[in-house]
Amino acid sequence: MKAPNRLLAGQGTTIFTVMSALAERHGAINLGQGFPDTDGPGAVVAAAAAALGDTALGETRNQYAPMTGLPVLREAVAAANRRFWGITVDPATEVVVTSGATEALAASMMALLDPADEVVLLEPLYDTYLPMVRLLGAVPRLVRLTPPDWRLDPAALAAAFGPRTKLLLLNTPMNPTGKVFTAEELATIADLLHRHDAYAVCDEVYEHLVFPGARHLALMGLPGMRERCLRIGSAGKTFSLTGWKIGYVSAPAPLAAVVARAHQNLVFASAPHLQRAVAFGLGLEDGYFAALGATLAAKCARLSRGLEAAGFSVLAPRGGYFVVADAARLAGGEGDAAFCRRLTEEAGVAAIPVSAFQDGGPAGSLVRFAFCKRDAVLDEACARLRRHFARAGGIDAARASA
Ligand code: PMP
Ligand code: GLN
Repeated sequence: MKAPNRLLAGQGTTIFTVMSALAERHGAINLGQGFPDTDGPGAVVAAAAAALGDTALGETRNQYAPMTGLPVLREAVAAANRRFWGITVDPATEVVVTSGATEALAASMMALLDPADEVVLLEPLYDTYLPMVRLLGAVPRLVRLTPPDWRLDPAALAAAFGPRTKLLLLNTPMNPTGKVFTAEELATIADLLHRHDAYAVCDEVYEHLVFPGARHLALMGLPGMRERCLRIGSAGKTFSLTGWKIGYVSAPAPLAAVVARAHQNLVFASAPHLQRAVAFGLGLEDGYFAALGATLAAKCARLSRGLEAAGFSVLAPRGGYFVVADAARLAGGEGDAAFCRRLTEEAGVAAIPVSAFQDGGPAGSLVRFAFCKRDAVLDEACARLRRHFARAGGIDAARASA
């Protein structure tokens, strides 16, 4: 029999599914896959429920939505662009609603890339980026940010650009590092995009999850960048409803039209009741959005204290759902993937190895923990870690005595 697609057949199951399954098997607290353990705003959930049975909406309420999204949601996305980031987009021609940011990313890359085009990517990176680039026959050019501060080296970035560069994929706030790109870094990126006539796909799913003291900046809002950027958001992240899988791309009309063609072939249209509810949610008062970062920052601080007490060194994030911690003092030379397995099985806390966000290279000792959980859950995770490492004297000691 002929083989199926080589790239997909050769790809393993995503680390998020692998670690969630392992956590379940061992009764571990799942700080691996990033999802909140409480629902987002009740009014948004109620809006979805109401839309399912809203007879005023007539027969359209549970049938195919318009291909690029319900007008009410496209208008809400355009209004949010203006309200939060000062970016004006036409809701009729410059917004495409997708089934999650995952589809938005795939559709955006499909819209831009031809085989042999080059894509600049910053590591560590979200796990769907590279497979999508490669499936499309494009060529990744990777630039690795280095811990602990995850600084972007302008010379390394410039060296990754060339005559074949079609686009750069930018994720800010960044998963897994929690880095929020600065105005200076964005200016460097904008300059390179301009000089190389390249586009940026901006994964901004954590746009509202920025800690006090940091500020999210949208590359699309910078001078000259409006026509080069495809900006992606996710209702899952903004409303703590990750299972809903509603995303949106804001892009200049000629590009949005091609993203729509990709969406037409992948999904065609996303669930209408969820679209209506997200449209309602994007109109919530400022206080809702402003509180998100502060709430998560407190959770991050809570977990970080516990991690430090257990012997990890924390690399402080500035936004998002995740904190990266260095387990060097606890892992005794064990690679991060093996360490995370043992942590799940023996300490009862699941985390994600940072090497899963990198394309090869030596496994280090960095581990990603999700803090978007109830305080009691974070406290229990910290207690388990502290007990485990106090008992073991570090995994190293535990292995030595095994
Ligand atoms: N981009 C990043 C950086 C993410 O962390 C995630 C996942 N949470 C996504 C995209 C996918 O978002 P969605 O669940 O809306 O598909
Ligand atoms: N974005 C989530 C994370 O980084 C996981 C999403 C998924 O499981 N596909 O943990």
